[in-house]
Amino acid sequence: MQFHNTLSGRKETFSPQHPDRVTMYVCGPTVYSYAHIGNARPAVVFDTLARVLRRRYANVVYVRNITDIDDKINAAAAKEGVSIGVIADRYTAAYHEDLAALGVVPADHAPKVTEHLPQIIAMIEKLIAAGHAYAAEGHVLFHTLSFPDYGKLSKRDEQSLMAGARVEVAPYKKHAGDFVLWKPSTPEQPGWDSPWGRGRPGWHIECSAMAEALLGETIDIHGGGHDLIFPHHENEIAQSVCAHGGKPFARYWLHNGFLNMAGEKMSKSLGNVTLVHDLVQRLPGELLRLVLLTGHYRQPLDWNEEVVADARKKLDRLYGALRELADIEPAAGVRAPDSFVAALEDDLNTPAALAELFELARAANKAESLSDKARLKAQLLDSGLLLGLLQQAPEAWFSWSPPQSAATALAPEAIEALIAERIAARAARNWAESDRIRDQLKAQGVLLEDSKDGMRWRYA
Ligand code: AMP
Ligand code: ZN
Repeated sequence: MQFHNTLSGRKETFSPQHPDRVTMYVCGPTVYSYAHIGNARPAVVFDTLARVLRRRYANVVYVRNITDIDDKINAAAAKEGVSIGVIADRYTAAYHEDLAALGVVPADHAPKVTEHLPQIIAMIEKLIAAGHAYAAEGHVLFHTLSFPDYGKLSKRDEQSLMAGARVEVAPYKKHAGDFVLWKPSTPEQPGWDSPWGRGRPGWHIECSAMAEALLGETIDIHGGGHDLIFPHHENEIAQSVCAHGGKPFARYWLHNGFLNMAGEKMSKSLGNVTLVHDLVQRLPGELLRLVLLTGHYRQPLDWNEEVVADARKKLDRLYGALRELADIEPAAGVRAPDSFVAALEDDLNTPAALAELFELARAANKAESLSDKARLKAQLLDSGLLLGLLQQAPEAWFSWSPPQSAATALAPEAIEALIAERIAARAARNWAESDRIRDQLKAQGVLLEDSKDGMRWRYA
Protein backbone atom coordinates (compact mmCIF):
# COMPACT_ATOMS: atom_id res chain seq x y z
CA MET A 1 0.00 0.00 0.00
CA GLN A 2 1.11 3.50 -0.70
CA PHE A 3 0.06 6.73 0.97
CA HIS A 4 0.95 10.33 0.49
CA ASN A 5 2.44 11.32 3.84
CA THR A 6 2.02 15.01 4.68
CA LEU A 7 5.07 14.74 6.95
CA SER A 8 7.49 13.80 4.16
CA GLY A 9 5.48 15.51 1.42
CA ARG A 10 5.60 12.42 -0.79
CA LYS A 11 4.05 9.04 -1.46
CA GLU A 12 5.50 6.29 0.71
CA THR A 13 5.11 2.54 0.97
CA PHE A 14 3.04 1.76 4.01
CA SER A 15 4.42 -0.65 6.56
CA PRO A 16 2.78 -0.73 9.99
CA GLN A 17 4.79 -1.01 13.19
CA HIS A 18 3.44 -4.50 13.77
CA PRO A 19 2.98 -6.71 10.70
CA ASP A 20 -0.66 -7.59 11.47
CA ARG A 21 -1.88 -4.60 13.37
CA VAL A 22 -2.66 -1.09 12.13
CA THR A 23 -3.63 1.78 14.38
CA MET A 24 -5.43 4.82 12.99
CA TYR A 25 -6.61 7.99 14.70
CA VAL A 26 -8.83 10.52 12.93
CA CYS A 27 -9.93 13.81 14.49
CA GLY A 28 -13.67 13.75 14.95
CA PRO A 29 -16.29 16.45 15.23
CA THR A 30 -16.72 19.17 17.80
CA VAL A 31 -20.32 18.46 18.76
CA TYR A 32 -22.04 21.84 18.95
CA SER A 33 -24.17 21.69 15.78
CA TYR A 34 -25.07 19.41 12.90
CA ALA A 35 -22.31 18.19 10.58
CA HIS A 36 -22.21 19.67 7.09
CA ILE A 37 -21.36 17.61 4.04
CA GLY A 38 -17.76 18.95 4.21
CA ASN A 39 -17.39 17.48 7.72
CA ALA A 40 -18.66 14.19 6.30
CA ARG A 41 -15.81 14.04 3.81
CA PRO A 42 -13.09 12.90 6.27
CA ALA A 43 -15.58 10.49 7.86
CA VAL A 44 -16.33 8.82 4.50
CA VAL A 45 -12.73 8.95 3.25
CA PHE A 46 -11.24 7.36 6.39
CA ASP A 47 -14.09 4.86 6.64
CA THR A 48 -13.15 3.75 3.12
CA LEU A 49 -9.48 3.63 4.10
CA ALA A 50 -10.38 1.48 7.14
CA ARG A 51 -12.25 -0.93 4.83
CA VAL A 52 -9.21 -1.20 2.54
CA LEU A 53 -6.83 -1.68 5.49
CA ARG A 54 -9.04 -4.35 7.06
CA ARG A 55 -8.86 -6.39 3.89
CA ARG A 56 -5.09 -6.60 4.12
CA TYR A 57 -4.47 -6.52 7.87
CA ALA A 58 -6.02 -8.84 10.41
CA ASN A 59 -6.23 -6.25 13.16
CA VAL A 60 -7.08 -2.63 12.42
CA VAL A 61 -7.90 -0.37 15.34
CA TYR A 62 -9.64 2.78 14.18
CA VAL A 63 -10.31 5.61 16.64
CA ARG A 64 -12.36 8.69 15.83
CA ASN A 65 -12.88 10.95 18.82
CA ILE A 66 -15.77 13.14 19.88
CA THR A 67 -14.66 16.60 20.97
CA ASP A 68 -17.20 17.31 23.70
CA ILE A 69 -15.24 19.97 25.59
CA ASP A 70 -14.82 23.12 23.56
CA ASP A 71 -15.66 26.78 23.89
CA LYS A 72 -18.10 26.55 20.97
CA ILE A 73 -20.06 23.95 22.93
CA ASN A 74 -19.96 26.22 25.98
CA ALA A 75 -21.38 29.07 23.90
CA ALA A 76 -24.17 26.90 22.43
CA ALA A 77 -25.09 25.61 25.92
CA ALA A 78 -25.12 29.11 27.42
CA LYS A 79 -27.36 30.31 24.59
CA GLU A 80 -29.93 27.57 25.24
CA GLY A 81 -29.55 27.68 29.01
CA VAL A 82 -28.65 23.97 29.22
CA SER A 83 -25.56 22.05 30.34
CA ILE A 84 -22.84 21.25 27.80
CA GLY A 85 -23.75 17.57 28.11
CA VAL A 86 -27.18 18.27 26.61
CA ILE A 87 -25.66 19.95 23.56
CA ALA A 88 -22.89 17.38 23.16
CA ASP A 89 -25.22 14.36 23.50
CA ARG A 90 -27.68 15.79 21.00
CA TYR A 91 -25.11 16.46 18.29
CA THR A 92 -23.11 13.31 18.97
CA ALA A 93 -26.25 11.26 18.32
CA ALA A 94 -27.05 13.33 15.22
CA TYR A 95 -23.49 12.87 13.94
CA HIS A 96 -23.62 9.10 14.26
CA GLU A 97 -27.05 8.98 12.67
CA ASP A 98 -25.91 11.09 9.72
CA LEU A 99 -22.80 8.98 9.21
CA ALA A 100 -24.81 5.76 9.35
CA ALA A 101 -26.95 7.12 6.49
CA LEU A 102 -23.72 7.58 4.51
CA GLY A 103 -22.75 3.95 5.11
CA VAL A 104 -19.96 4.84 7.53
CA VAL A 105 -19.22 1.90 9.81
CA PRO A 106 -18.75 2.98 13.45
CA ALA A 107 -15.07 3.36 14.41
CA ASP A 108 -13.71 0.80 16.86
CA HIS A 109 -13.56 3.51 19.52
CA ALA A 110 -15.23 6.92 19.73
CA PRO A 111 -13.60 8.39 22.86
CA LYS A 112 -14.99 11.51 24.48
CA VAL A 113 -12.86 14.21 26.05
CA THR A 114 -15.12 14.29 29.13
CA GLU A 115 -14.11 10.69 29.79
CA HIS A 116 -10.36 11.40 29.55
CA LEU A 117 -9.68 14.28 31.96
CA PRO A 118 -7.31 12.22 34.17
CA GLN A 119 -5.23 11.20 31.11
CA ILE A 120 -5.15 14.78 29.82
CA ILE A 121 -4.03 16.13 33.20
CA ALA A 122 -1.38 13.40 33.52
CA MET A 123 0.03 14.26 30.09
CA ILE A 124 0.21 17.96 30.94
CA GLU A 125 2.02 17.12 34.17
CA LYS A 126 4.55 15.06 32.19
CA LEU A 127 5.14 17.95 29.80
CA ILE A 128 5.73 20.35 32.69
CA ALA A 129 8.12 17.89 34.38
CA ALA A 130 10.08 17.49 31.13
CA GLY A 131 10.44 21.25 30.73
CA HIS A 132 8.19 21.53 27.66
CA ALA A 133 5.33 23.31 29.39
CA TYR A 134 4.83 25.85 32.14
CA ALA A 135 2.00 27.03 34.35
CA ALA A 136 1.20 30.72 34.57
CA GLU A 137 -1.85 32.50 35.96
CA GLY A 138 -4.09 29.42 35.93
CA HIS A 139 -3.01 28.55 32.41
CA VAL A 140 -0.60 25.87 31.27
CA LEU A 141 1.23 26.57 28.03
CA PHE A 142 3.30 24.45 25.73
CA HIS A 143 6.63 26.10 25.09
CA THR A 144 7.10 25.75 21.34
CA LEU A 145 10.76 26.83 21.40
CA SER A 146 11.50 23.72 23.49
CA PHE A 147 10.67 21.48 20.52
CA PRO A 148 13.06 21.95 17.59
CA ASP A 149 10.84 19.99 15.18
CA TYR A 150 7.94 22.41 15.69
CA GLY A 151 6.65 23.40 12.23
CA LYS A 152 7.94 20.29 10.46
CA LEU A 153 4.54 18.88 9.51
CA SER A 154 3.13 22.15 8.21
CA LYS A 155 6.50 23.18 6.77
CA ARG A 156 6.30 26.54 8.39
CA ASP A 157 9.12 28.68 9.55
CA GLU A 158 8.98 30.82 12.66
CA GLN A 159 7.40 33.77 10.86
CA SER A 160 4.60 31.91 9.10
CA LEU A 161 3.96 29.89 12.23
CA MET A 162 3.17 33.10 14.02
CA ALA A 163 1.04 34.48 11.19
CA GLY A 164 -0.90 31.21 10.80
CA ALA A 165 -1.61 30.75 14.46
CA ARG A 166 -3.07 34.24 14.89
CA VAL A 167 -1.61 33.87 18.33
CA GLU A 168 -2.66 36.03 21.19
CA VAL A 169 0.12 37.87 22.84
CA ALA A 170 -0.77 37.34 26.48
CA PRO A 171 1.30 38.54 29.41
CA TYR A 172 1.58 35.02 30.85
CA LYS A 173 3.24 33.64 27.70
CA LYS A 174 6.99 33.16 27.46
CA HIS A 175 6.78 33.19 23.69
CA ALA A 176 3.93 34.41 21.48
CA GLY A 177 3.78 31.05 19.67
CA ASP A 178 3.15 29.06 22.86
CA PHE A 179 -0.24 27.40 22.91
CA VAL A 180 -2.67 26.51 25.64
CA LEU A 181 -2.80 23.07 27.25
CA TRP A 182 -5.06 24.11 30.11
CA LYS A 183 -7.02 27.27 30.80
CA PRO A 184 -8.94 28.53 33.84
CA SER A 185 -12.75 28.53 33.93
CA THR A 186 -14.87 31.21 35.56
CA PRO A 187 -17.48 29.87 38.05
CA GLU A 188 -20.15 29.99 35.29
CA GLN A 189 -18.03 28.10 32.79
CA PRO A 190 -17.73 24.29 32.73
CA GLY A 191 -14.56 23.26 34.51
CA TRP A 192 -12.67 20.38 36.10
CA ASP A 193 -10.35 20.35 39.08
CA SER A 194 -6.67 20.20 38.24
CA PRO A 195 -3.28 20.95 39.86
CA TRP A 196 -3.57 24.42 38.24
CA GLY A 197 -7.05 25.16 39.58
CA ARG A 198 -10.49 24.62 38.12
CA GLY A 199 -10.35 24.82 34.36
CA ARG A 200 -10.59 22.99 31.06
CA PRO A 201 -8.20 21.52 28.50
CA GLY A 202 -7.18 23.07 25.21
CA TRP A 203 -8.33 21.32 22.03
CA HIS A 204 -4.93 19.94 20.92
CA ILE A 205 -4.02 18.11 24.13
CA GLU A 206 -7.38 16.34 24.04
CA CYS A 207 -6.42 14.42 20.88
CA SER A 208 -2.88 13.64 22.07
CA ALA A 209 -4.19 12.17 25.31
CA MET A 210 -7.00 10.15 23.72
CA ALA A 211 -4.70 8.76 21.01
CA GLU A 212 -2.25 7.61 23.69
CA ALA A 213 -5.01 6.16 25.89
CA LEU A 214 -6.44 3.99 23.12
CA LEU A 215 -3.58 3.34 20.71
CA GLY A 216 -0.34 3.83 22.61
CA GLU A 217 2.54 6.25 22.16
CA THR A 218 3.22 5.77 18.45
CA ILE A 219 0.39 5.26 16.00
CA ASP A 220 0.53 4.22 12.36
CA ILE A 221 -1.90 6.58 10.64
CA HIS A 222 -3.27 9.93 11.70
CA GLY A 223 -5.94 11.56 9.56
CA GLY A 224 -8.11 14.62 9.31
CA GLY A 225 -9.04 17.50 7.07
CA HIS A 226 -6.37 19.67 5.47
CA ASP A 227 -7.31 22.59 7.73
CA LEU A 228 -6.10 20.63 10.76
CA ILE A 229 -2.44 20.43 9.69
CA PHE A 230 -1.74 23.71 11.41
CA PRO A 231 -2.01 24.40 14.23
CA HIS A 232 -3.94 21.33 15.45
CA HIS A 233 -1.77 18.48 14.17
CA GLU A 234 1.47 20.39 14.54
CA ASN A 235 0.56 20.87 18.20
CA GLU A 236 -0.52 17.25 18.65
CA ILE A 237 2.93 16.17 17.44
CA ALA A 238 4.72 18.59 19.77
CA GLN A 239 2.76 17.41 22.80
CA SER A 240 2.93 13.68 22.10
CA VAL A 241 6.59 13.54 21.07
CA CYS A 242 7.64 15.60 24.09
CA ALA A 243 5.48 13.60 26.51
CA HIS A 244 6.90 10.33 25.17
CA GLY A 245 10.59 11.06 25.43
CA GLY A 246 11.04 11.82 21.73
CA LYS A 247 9.22 8.77 20.31
CA PRO A 248 7.45 9.50 17.03
CA PHE A 249 3.73 10.23 17.35
CA ALA A 250 2.17 9.27 14.00
CA ARG A 251 4.11 7.58 11.21
CA TYR A 252 1.81 8.49 8.30
CA TRP A 253 -0.19 11.70 8.16
CA LEU A 254 -3.10 11.73 5.73
CA HIS A 255 -5.17 14.83 5.04
CA ASN A 256 -8.29 15.18 2.93
CA GLY A 257 -8.87 18.21 0.73
CA PHE A 258 -11.77 20.57 1.25
CA LEU A 259 -15.27 20.20 0.04
CA ASN A 260 -16.01 23.50 -1.61
CA MET A 261 -19.11 25.34 -2.63
CA ALA A 262 -18.66 27.70 -5.58
CA GLY A 263 -14.89 27.47 -5.07
CA GLU A 264 -14.96 28.32 -1.38
CA LYS A 265 -14.41 25.95 1.54
CA MET A 266 -17.70 24.87 3.05
CA SER A 267 -17.55 26.08 6.63
CA LYS A 268 -19.74 27.27 9.40
CA SER A 269 -17.87 30.53 9.71
CA LEU A 270 -18.50 31.37 6.04
CA GLY A 271 -22.13 30.30 6.41
CA ASN A 272 -22.15 28.32 3.14
CA VAL A 273 -23.03 24.99 4.70
CA THR A 274 -25.35 22.21 3.59
CA LEU A 275 -26.13 19.91 6.49
CA VAL A 276 -26.04 16.14 6.08
CA HIS A 277 -29.10 16.08 8.34
CA ASP A 278 -31.07 18.03 5.69
CA LEU A 279 -29.56 16.34 2.65
CA VAL A 280 -30.59 12.86 3.77
CA GLN A 281 -34.20 14.06 3.76
CA ARG A 282 -34.12 14.48 0.00
CA LEU A 283 -31.25 12.32 -1.27
CA PRO A 284 -30.22 8.71 -0.63
CA GLY A 285 -27.23 8.51 1.69
CA GLU A 286 -25.46 6.20 -0.75
CA LEU A 287 -25.61 8.91 -3.39
CA LEU A 288 -23.99 11.41 -1.00
CA ARG A 289 -21.29 8.88 -0.23
CA LEU A 290 -20.57 8.35 -3.91
CA VAL A 291 -20.25 12.10 -4.49
CA LEU A 292 -17.63 12.22 -1.72
CA LEU A 293 -15.70 9.36 -3.31
CA THR A 294 -15.77 10.61 -6.92
CA GLY A 295 -12.75 12.85 -6.35
CA HIS A 296 -9.37 11.82 -5.02
CA TYR A 297 -9.38 12.48 -1.27
CA ARG A 298 -6.44 14.90 -1.40
CA GLN A 299 -8.02 17.11 -4.05
CA PRO A 300 -10.63 19.77 -3.47
CA LEU A 301 -14.14 18.67 -4.39
CA ASP A 302 -16.88 20.99 -5.49
CA TRP A 303 -20.36 20.45 -4.14
CA ASN A 304 -23.23 21.37 -6.47
CA GLU A 305 -26.41 19.93 -7.98
CA GLU A 306 -24.49 18.69 -11.02
CA VAL A 307 -22.22 16.35 -9.07
CA VAL A 308 -25.30 15.07 -7.28
CA ALA A 309 -27.15 14.40 -10.55
CA ASP A 310 -24.04 12.76 -11.97
CA ALA A 311 -23.69 10.44 -8.96
CA ARG A 312 -27.35 9.46 -9.31
CA LYS A 313 -26.78 8.44 -12.94
CA LYS A 314 -23.73 6.46 -11.91
CA LEU A 315 -25.62 4.53 -9.24
CA ASP A 316 -28.49 3.96 -11.68
CA ARG A 317 -25.99 2.36 -14.03
CA LEU A 318 -24.37 0.19 -11.38
CA TYR A 319 -27.64 -0.93 -9.81
CA GLY A 320 -29.08 -1.34 -13.32
CA ALA A 321 -26.37 -3.89 -14.07
CA LEU A 322 -27.05 -5.68 -10.77
CA ARG A 323 -30.79 -5.68 -11.43
CA GLU A 324 -30.20 -7.55 -14.66
CA LEU A 325 -28.35 -10.16 -12.61
CA ALA A 326 -31.10 -10.43 -10.00
CA ASP A 327 -31.63 -14.15 -10.57
CA ILE A 328 -27.94 -15.00 -10.67
CA GLU A 329 -26.19 -16.42 -7.63
CA PRO A 330 -22.86 -14.59 -7.15
CA ALA A 331 -19.91 -16.94 -7.66
CA ALA A 332 -18.65 -18.25 -4.33
CA GLY A 333 -15.22 -17.12 -3.20
CA VAL A 334 -14.79 -14.51 -5.95
CA ARG A 335 -13.61 -11.18 -4.61
CA ALA A 336 -12.94 -7.70 -6.00
CA PRO A 337 -10.50 -7.79 -8.95
CA ASP A 338 -6.85 -7.15 -8.11
CA SER A 339 -6.76 -4.03 -10.31
CA PHE A 340 -9.64 -2.55 -8.29
CA VAL A 341 -7.95 -3.24 -4.94
CA ALA A 342 -4.64 -1.99 -6.35
CA ALA A 343 -6.26 1.36 -7.21
CA LEU A 344 -7.47 1.76 -3.64
CA GLU A 345 -4.14 0.67 -2.21
CA ASP A 346 -2.46 3.35 -4.29
CA ASP A 347 -3.10 6.30 -1.98
CA LEU A 348 -6.83 5.50 -1.92
CA ASN A 349 -7.39 6.33 -5.57
CA THR A 350 -11.18 6.16 -5.55
CA PRO A 351 -11.64 7.74 -9.03
CA ALA A 352 -9.52 4.95 -10.55
CA ALA A 353 -11.36 2.33 -8.48
CA LEU A 354 -14.72 3.71 -9.63
CA ALA A 355 -13.57 3.51 -13.24
CA GLU A 356 -12.83 -0.19 -12.62
CA LEU A 357 -16.28 -0.62 -11.13
CA PHE A 358 -17.94 0.81 -14.26
CA GLU A 359 -15.82 -1.50 -16.36
CA LEU A 360 -17.27 -4.42 -14.37
CA ALA A 361 -20.81 -3.12 -14.89
CA ARG A 362 -20.19 -2.78 -18.62
CA ALA A 363 -18.84 -6.33 -18.80
CA ALA A 364 -21.82 -7.58 -16.76
CA ASN A 365 -24.27 -5.95 -19.20
CA LYS A 366 -22.58 -7.76 -22.07
CA ALA A 367 -21.98 -11.09 -20.35
CA GLU A 368 -23.78 -14.06 -21.83
CA SER A 369 -22.65 -17.15 -20.00
CA LEU A 370 -24.00 -17.96 -16.59
CA SER A 371 -20.51 -18.34 -15.16
CA ASP A 372 -19.42 -14.90 -16.43
CA LYS A 373 -22.53 -13.34 -14.95
CA ALA A 374 -21.97 -15.09 -11.61
CA ARG A 375 -18.34 -14.00 -11.48
CA LEU A 376 -19.10 -10.40 -12.44
CA LYS A 377 -21.91 -10.14 -9.92
CA ALA A 378 -19.59 -11.36 -7.16
CA GLN A 379 -16.90 -8.89 -8.27
CA LEU A 380 -19.34 -5.99 -8.43
CA LEU A 381 -20.71 -6.69 -4.97
CA ASP A 382 -17.33 -7.22 -3.33
CA SER A 383 -15.82 -4.12 -4.97
CA GLY A 384 -18.88 -2.15 -3.92
CA LEU A 385 -18.42 -3.35 -0.35
CA LEU A 386 -14.89 -1.94 -0.23
CA LEU A 387 -16.25 1.46 -1.22
CA GLY A 388 -19.32 1.15 1.01
CA LEU A 389 -21.60 1.06 -2.05
CA LEU A 390 -23.99 -1.35 -3.81
CA GLN A 391 -25.05 -3.28 -0.72
CA GLN A 392 -28.80 -2.79 -1.02
CA ALA A 393 -31.17 -4.63 -3.32
CA PRO A 394 -31.38 -2.88 -6.72
CA GLU A 395 -35.13 -2.49 -6.21
CA ALA A 396 -34.49 -0.64 -2.95
CA TRP A 397 -32.20 1.80 -4.77
CA PHE A 398 -34.65 2.39 -7.61
CA SER A 399 -37.64 2.81 -5.30
CA TRP A 400 -35.93 5.12 -2.77
CA SER A 401 -38.27 7.83 -1.63
CA PRO A 402 -37.57 10.79 0.63
CA PRO A 403 -38.51 10.00 4.23
CA GLN A 404 -40.41 13.28 4.57
CA SER A 405 -42.78 12.59 1.72
CA ALA A 406 -43.06 8.90 2.54
CA ALA A 407 -46.49 9.49 4.05
CA THR A 408 -47.80 11.25 0.95
CA ALA A 409 -46.04 9.11 -1.66
CA LEU A 410 -48.03 6.38 -3.37
CA ALA A 411 -47.51 3.03 -1.69
CA PRO A 412 -45.81 0.35 -3.81
CA GLU A 413 -49.03 -1.74 -3.83
CA ALA A 414 -51.04 1.18 -5.23
CA ILE A 415 -48.37 1.73 -7.87
CA GLU A 416 -48.34 -1.93 -8.85
CA ALA A 417 -52.16 -1.88 -9.12
CA LEU A 418 -52.07 1.15 -11.46
CA ILE A 419 -49.37 -0.52 -13.55
CA ALA A 420 -51.55 -3.64 -13.86
CA GLU A 421 -54.41 -1.43 -15.06
CA ARG A 422 -52.09 0.19 -17.57
CA ILE A 423 -50.92 -3.17 -18.88
CA ALA A 424 -54.55 -4.21 -19.30
CA ALA A 425 -55.31 -0.95 -21.13
CA ARG A 426 -52.39 -1.51 -23.49
CA ALA A 427 -53.43 -5.12 -24.11
CA ALA A 428 -56.83 -3.71 -25.12
CA ARG A 429 -55.00 -1.13 -27.35
CA ASN A 430 -56.52 1.65 -25.27
CA TRP A 431 -53.53 4.01 -25.64
CA ALA A 432 -55.34 7.02 -24.20
CA GLU A 433 -56.03 5.18 -20.95
CA SER A 434 -52.46 3.87 -20.87
CA ASP A 435 -51.07 7.41 -21.22
CA ARG A 436 -53.49 8.74 -18.63
CA ILE A 437 -52.27 6.24 -16.06
CA ARG A 438 -48.64 7.01 -16.89
CA ASP A 439 -49.30 10.75 -16.47
CA GLN A 440 -51.18 10.21 -13.24
CA LEU A 441 -48.25 8.26 -11.80
CA LYS A 442 -45.81 10.90 -12.99
CA ALA A 443 -47.87 13.61 -11.31
CA GLN A 444 -47.59 11.58 -8.10
CA GLY A 445 -43.84 11.30 -8.42
CA VAL A 446 -43.55 7.82 -9.95
CA LEU A 447 -41.66 7.20 -13.17
CA LEU A 448 -42.32 4.24 -15.47
CA GLU A 449 -39.79 2.55 -17.62
CA ASP A 450 -40.37 -0.20 -20.19
CA SER A 451 -37.84 -3.00 -20.11
CA LYS A 452 -37.50 -6.45 -21.50
CA ASP A 453 -38.67 -7.81 -18.17
CA GLY A 454 -41.82 -5.71 -18.24
CA MET A 455 -42.78 -2.42 -16.70
CA ARG A 456 -40.51 -0.98 -14.03
CA TRP A 457 -41.18 1.94 -11.78
CA ARG A 458 -39.27 4.24 -9.47
CA TYR A 459 -39.93 7.29 -7.37
CA ALA A 460 -38.82 10.43 -9.23
P1 AMP B 1 -14.73 20.36 12.91
O1 AMP B 1 -15.97 19.80 13.56
O2 AMP B 1 -14.90 21.71 12.36
O3 AMP B 1 -13.52 20.21 13.81
O4 AMP B 1 -14.43 19.46 11.63
C1 AMP B 1 -14.46 18.04 11.63
C2 AMP B 1 -13.66 17.52 10.48
O5 AMP B 1 -14.17 18.00 9.23
C3 AMP B 1 -12.19 17.93 10.48
O6 AMP B 1 -11.40 16.80 10.10
C4 AMP B 1 -12.10 19.02 9.44
O7 AMP B 1 -10.83 19.08 8.86
C5 AMP B 1 -13.12 18.53 8.43
N1 AMP B 1 -13.67 19.60 7.57
C6 AMP B 1 -14.26 20.75 7.95
N2 AMP B 1 -14.69 21.46 6.88
C7 AMP B 1 -14.37 20.73 5.77
C8 AMP B 1 -14.56 20.91 4.36
N3 AMP B 1 -15.20 21.97 3.85
N4 AMP B 1 -14.11 19.95 3.53
C9 AMP B 1 -13.49 18.85 4.02
N5 AMP B 1 -13.28 18.61 5.33
C10 AMP B 1 -13.72 19.53 6.22
ZN1 ZN C 1 -7.27 16.06 16.72
